Amino acid sequence: MPPEFSTVEQYWDTPLDISGKTLNVIKVYKDGSSVIKDSEKNGYAFMKVSCLHCADPSCVSACPVSAMTKDPVNGIVSYDKGACIGCRYCVAACPFGVPRFQYDTPFPQITKCQLCAHRMKEGKYAACAYVCPTGATLFGKVRDLHAEARRRLALKPGEDAEFPRGNLSTHDQSSFPAKAAKYLPQIYGEKEVGGTQMLKLSAVSFEKLGMPTLPERSYAATSETMQHTLYGSLVLPLAFLGVLSYVAKRNVKDDEGNDEQH
Ligand code: SF4
Ligand code: SF4
Repeated sequence: MPPEFSTVEQYWDTPLDISGKTLNVIKVYKDGSSVIKDSEKNGYAFMKVSCLHCADPSCVSACPVSAMTKDPVNGIVSYDKGACIGCRYCVAACPFGVPRFQYDTPFPQITKCQLCAHRMKEGKYAACAYVCPTGATLFGKVRDLHAEARRRLALKPGEDAEFPRGNLSTHDQSSFPAKAAKYLPQIYGEKEVGGTQMLKLSAVSFEKLGMPTLPERSYAATSETMQHTLYGSLVLPLAFLGVLSYVAKRNVKDDEGNDEQH
């Protein structure tokens, strides 16, 4: 994808949201003086915005020509530009506002994150998790991600902890030392619209971070049986991506050897 600019000075790509050019963006929440990390009042927080790879995706249900499909093995929701007829039903159907239409190109396509499916064919995993230094974005099997989310929720706020980074379900992972956050007791994506493959933790309310409050039943109006098979019993996915945002107050030494917190 080409870089996208939101300022006149085009030094760095600075998209403000996902779009026909941007599949994945980290949005910033700010309040008041914006000095306290992960605080709703006078604080700031980050939220990753991209496709959540729903267990029962309404974009797939809405597509009349099967240009949106869900992989039965790894659960990735993919887009086939060759099959697409440009009706934009998927744009209207997604409860998270994810699929975007390229209005400004002569041959428009739908764009959305496809969980780096092209990398998986090469034995790699999602690039956003691969490059994330702190484990705020973490890749792995859904059962492992759920376990890690529950572990993070159970940590005492402020306690020193290790946060795995990279691919949680392989042995090549490393970890990042940080102090535990004061999370809200909610795993976003565990129940919303039948469950999503991307899971989120946050210390700031999800609504304030732009994530909609949604019912548990999927908009795709699938049968209970299908939902239970896909997600409730967790038999489907091999590769699930979780996004676990947390308060990173990392202990470091300043130049004079004193303890500092960042
Ligand atoms: S988040 Fe939207 S685009 Fe992604 S799988 Fe769910 S319904 Fe489809
Ligand atoms: S725009 Fe393309 S992918 Fe979206 S619903 Fe229509 S045919 Fe399917």
